[in-house]
Amino acid sequence: MAITVRHLSKRFGSFQAVDDVSFEVPAGELVALLGPSGSGKSTILRIIAGLEDADTGEVELTGEDATNLPVQRRGVGFVFQHYALFRHMTIRQNIAFGLEVQKLRRPEIRRRVDELLDLVQLTGYASRYPSQLSGGQRQRVALARALAPAPKVLLLDEPFGALDSKVREELRTWLRKLHDEVHVTSLFVTHDQQEAFEVSDQLVVLNHGRVEQMGPPQWLYENPASPFVTEFLGAVNVLKLETVATIQPGHLGDPPLVLPGRSQSSLVYVRPHDLEITRSINGRPAWPSRIKKLTRLGGLVRLELVLDDGTNLLVQLTRESCLELALAEGESVFVTPKDMKVFHESASFVEDYAI
Ligand code: ADP
Ligand code: MG
Repeated sequence: MAITVRHLSKRFGSFQAVDDVSFEVPAGELVALLGPSGSGKSTILRIIAGLEDADTGEVELTGEDATNLPVQRRGVGFVFQHYALFRHMTIRQNIAFGLEVQKLRRPEIRRRVDELLDLVQLTGYASRYPSQLSGGQRQRVALARALAPAPKVLLLDEPFGALDSKVREELRTWLRKLHDEVHVTSLFVTHDQQEAFEVSDQLVVLNHGRVEQMGPPQWLYENPASPFVTEFLGAVNVLKLETVATIQPGHLGDPPLVLPGRSQSSLVYVRPHDLEITRSINGRPAWPSRIKKLTRLGGLVRLELVLDDGTNLLVQLTRESCLELALAEGESVFVTPKDMKVFHESASFVEDYAI
């Protein structure tokens, strides 16, 4: 393992910012720490970098105990959202900074900086100053500067957080490609689920300083272990069991739908793209509903439906199916959940239910 953290905890006064956090980052992988603002992501990253001491717990870097090592001996490179470049230095001098500290010879520094400028696609910008670059270019320089001393691990704290959304998206794709080229073990902090999905091999989902769940992004999306993870990884409808019980049988004489293990506190989760719209009941259990609002979003269409009991449902479908069904606001349709997740709160138990 390139990064191992075990039972990390950190309090600020009486506030528990990090609460018994353990996870591993395998060598060469890019792992994202994903959680809402205030969930302890930056604190964990700063503890791994050696910029902050944990109250308890251990940090291991490439198999060695680093818990008490000073920051400059940990072999970590970092890029932060506001980790500004040196303004009075050129791009070449900025990237060379860590190499000068290592006292490499001049020609060697030159060669390495050229290599990095090429890697971050900024050849030709070497003699410019940071103020002469765009925000996205500056973050690429920051990455080159972090990579220059060949760190054992790279730590990135919302590195694209201050950029506008188009540049962010470009840099995400770029970062993933770069990582596939250089394979430096990286821990990437973000509060943006989409960003985490796009760049990472594995996700560690944090909530209130604790690890909620970890695993490959798509696997987590399909197998969330808690309501928090389900809600954090994408838009979802939350239904009461009573509402599920109002679903109409697909055939005359079919019994109403009863979910197993039901209890008062159970909640049912359905993703907007797991709801199917039909004009007639078609032999499958469905809810009668009315289209309250229809919004076209390029290739997708978002429907806001209201069921007979007043429950609102968000549905996502393709532009083609919307055209095929000739849907319009105010019309009546049937809606069938193709896939539901049921969380039984008392037993913290999750169950899949497909129709
Ligand atoms: P994130 O990066 O997930 O947004 P942080 O790790 O920055 O979260 O912070 C976690 C919590 O700890 C926040 O509530 C924050 O206010 C608090 N916190 C972080 N650093 C300090 C500090 N130096 N002093 C007091 N509270 C802090
Ligand atoms: Mg933070």
